[in-house]
Amino acid sequence: MNAKRSSVVVVGSINMDMVSHSRRLPGPGETLVGESFVMAPGGKGANQAVAAARLGARVAFVSRVGTRQHGGALLQALADEGIACEGVARDATALPGIAVIMVASEGGENSIVYVPGSNADLTPDDVAASKDVLQTATVVVAQLEVPVPAIAEAFALARATGATTVLNAAPALQVPDALLALTDWLVLNETEAVQLSGLAEAKAAALALLQRGPQTVLVTLGADGVLLCTAAGTLHLPANAVKAVDTVGAGDTFVGGLATGLAEGFSAADAVRLGQAAAAIAVSRSGVQTAMPYRHELAAA
Ligand code: ADP
Repeated sequence: MNAKRSSVVVVGSINMDMVSHSRRLPGPGETLVGESFVMAPGGKGANQAVAAARLGARVAFVSRVGTRQHGGALLQALADEGIACEGVARDATALPGIAVIMVASEGGENSIVYVPGSNADLTPDDVAASKDVLQTATVVVAQLEVPVPAIAEAFALARATGATTVLNAAPALQVPDALLALTDWLVLNETEAVQLSGLAEAKAAALALLQRGPQTVLVTLGADGVLLCTAAGTLHLPANAVKAVDTVGAGDTFVGGLATGLAEGFSAADAVRLGQAAAAIAVSRSGVQTAMPYRHELAAA
């Protein structure tokens, strides 16, 4: 595949994940001695930005980051990936998004408390202040971990400059039709498609969502691949066969790859294939950002 540099702007969340492992999960009021602890950058927005950057896209991030704690480390991690952060509003009085994740080493069960922090404070004014950054975009990508009015502002600015808009409707939340009307590509997994459409089956859900504004709806089906729906018809693109080790973050890697392919001018099916090839490598390794592949690894695969 052609590895020409391209321009993706991601508007979204950034978190610090704090992950402890203990033999089992503690009950209410109980203190356990844990086995290990790691902190790792996360958030769907930051994850997708990292995925696209590793696949060779020129990436800028538009976000709001609390720097009272951990924000500096999160921004440094993005800079280390070569991601431009001029569009990130910094708030010294706020915390960034924090996910406190407890994992049971026996059985793998987990409990998570997610505190959105500064992700919930991203405003249309913050996005408008990053207009110069958005104007460099070929593709603008957003997810639902930041407020809808901020995403709508970004997509309106993207539309005004002829950029392609990609909405990853995750986590599963309702999306106003006004935002779907500004969305070129709607990407969501089966659970999210069912919840957003109110229909029980993936293809029916995709076709119903297509009527609400997007030109293309992609429903990701895990190991079963992707349904690509447009007015011209529906295509099933199978996933790359791999031995899955850790599927957390598969969707984020897929969206980063899709956006990279679209920014490079790939056909719809080829952009989906790039996303699927990257996601297949990511699920064959453990971790989220740590598992995301570089472009040369796809060529090797
Ligand atoms: P999410 O992580 O948002 O729930 P999915 O689980 O649908 O998203 O995964 C997104 C994409 O990642 C899939 O369409 C597929 O291409 C790839 N993928 C996910 N799980 C696997 C797997 N077990 N084997 C190969 N590819 C996978």
